[in-house]
Amino acid sequence: MIIGATKCSAASAVFRAGAALVDITPTNFPIRTAGNLTLTVADKVLDPLHVRALVLDDGSTQIAIAVVDSCMVDRATMDAAKAAAQRVTGIPIDRMLIAATHTHSAPAAYSCHGNDVEPGYVAFLIPRLAEAIVEAWRNRVPARVGWGKSDCAQFVHCRRWLMQPGTAENPPAAFTGQVTNLAMMNPGYANTNKIRPTGPVDPAVTVLSVQTADGKPLAVLANYSTHYAGVSEAGLSADYFGEFCRVMAEELGVAEGQPFVALMSNGTSGDANCIDFTKPNWKNDRFQVARAVADAGLEALKAARYQDWVPLAMAEQKRLLKVRRPSRSEVATARAYLAKNVGERPTRNWEENYARETVKLADWPARKEIKLQALRIGDFAIATTPCETFGRTGLAIKQASPFPLTMVMELANGCNGYLPPPDQFALGGYTTWRARSSYLEIGAEPKIRETVDVLLQRVARTNKP
Ligand SMILES: [Zn+2]
Repeated sequence: MIIGATKCSAASAVFRAGAALVDITPTNFPIRTAGNLTLTVADKVLDPLHVRALVLDDGSTQIAIAVVDSCMVDRATMDAAKAAAQRVTGIPIDRMLIAATHTHSAPAAYSCHGNDVEPGYVAFLIPRLAEAIVEAWRNRVPARVGWGKSDCAQFVHCRRWLMQPGTAENPPAAFTGQVTNLAMMNPGYANTNKIRPTGPVDPAVTVLSVQTADGKPLAVLANYSTHYAGVSEAGLSADYFGEFCRVMAEELGVAEGQPFVALMSNGTSGDANCIDFTKPNWKNDRFQVARAVADAGLEALKAARYQDWVPLAMAEQKRLLKVRRPSRSEVATARAYLAKNVGERPTRNWEENYARETVKLADWPARKEIKLQALRIGDFAIATTPCETFGRTGLAIKQASPFPLTMVMELANGCNGYLPPPDQFALGGYTTWRARSSYLEIGAEPKIRETVDVLLQRVARTNKP
């Protein structure tokens, strides 16, 4: 699994790494949380939220990776944090990766569906995102790295199913932009109208491990492609992502916090979650998922071969993509519907939500610029998309990658909605419905995949002594 140790011939170059953890649990309650279709307000903390950061330094290149306990964070917020971190560390903004875990129980940092952004929280978040990167940079010590991969198929299942015609949810096409709906999200075990999942899932638990030069755990960056696990009561939680980090520290026999920090990032879970719809009475919670994924992560690390020095490289590219904007008549229909049926009260169902989303998208620009990245850590690579990316896309990126092991991280460096492959629009369903959670052009997925492939090729060609 681990191929091609790169030895440093420049005797002076020392590989260094540092990690840091910053608490981002809000102190003002109640607060809106993101991820649910309808208004969701938390008034307590189930477990704390964090930004977790890792800075790697090969002596000539420094890269920063941060994972934030949030459903989604937009590009402007992340760029503001990167700029603040750059001012202190000097690490260029295009050598910084920030990704959201996609916990559905964190304050709304982006307006979508029934939960508008909490502006005060965004202002609170930006300096803390920057602080985590700065602290990780300050904490750098001589280090070594290794990596590995294992599978955990138990908690990643396609949540999008092809249905018998006429049995999938079908809100008004004027509000969703989608006339045909043959696919349905979370159909349920008992639903006999479901035919088959609409795509494959990626069961990989991919892990990068960083140790001090004398072999003490310094950081573990992991990645798994399930949406989230959920919480059983209303409250703030880092979901299984946070619990994974706690379990990982416990299993490695170290205290969580500086110097050791675990980071659990989201892979390609746009069409996947923890529920096996072929089994009756399926149950899962964030503790079970964290345990299973941590066990797979620990298994993966058994095969890790640590190297004292590896070359680092990072490439970033921006792309302008078209936005699926509603037509004038669709906006007029939605406005009239909302005036008659909803007024100022919160939305309560799909139909009301998509009418509101249609109005919110009315004055959006015709194009949006998105950011894509590839990172190289020796023979290990990370590719990023800013979308809720489908399993099929992640698998294709890994397949095309010139690296023996590639991690694909979603909701990184912005949040640009679901990214269904073009053929999925013919099937319709939730992830294709036009909203601030799904708005990129139908052809966006192949463009993003191809650009990420080129970026991976580019970092693979980096030549260092
Ligand atoms: Zn989600």
